[in-house]
Amino acid sequence: MIEKKICKICSKEFVPDKYHPRQRVCSSKECQNARQMKNQRVWRSNNPNYFKYKDKKTPWELRRYNYLKKWRQDHRGYFKSYRKKIKKQKFA
Ligand SMILES: [Zn+2]
Repeated sequence: MIEKKICKICSKEFVPDKYHPRQRVCSSKECQNARQMKNQRVWRSNNPNYFKYKDKKTPWELRRYNYLKKWRQDHRGYFKSYRKKIKKQKFA
């Protein structure tokens, strides 16, 4: 017997996937998108600092970040020539 469930988002009846019997949202594109957006929101509120790696916190990290930034600026020519070399190799 197939057990039907009510979608948490659109409130329509649906039959859960046989491999995902705990499914609570129907498989329509809109509901799946809404489910994913909600999950991401929840996850981000649970991990608020996950995407804030650019904000350097300790003095050591800040010093290192500034050092590397300066190094990259001072060696722009090196990167340019390297990129040119790679391009040549690829399209040779
Ligand atoms: Zn739905």
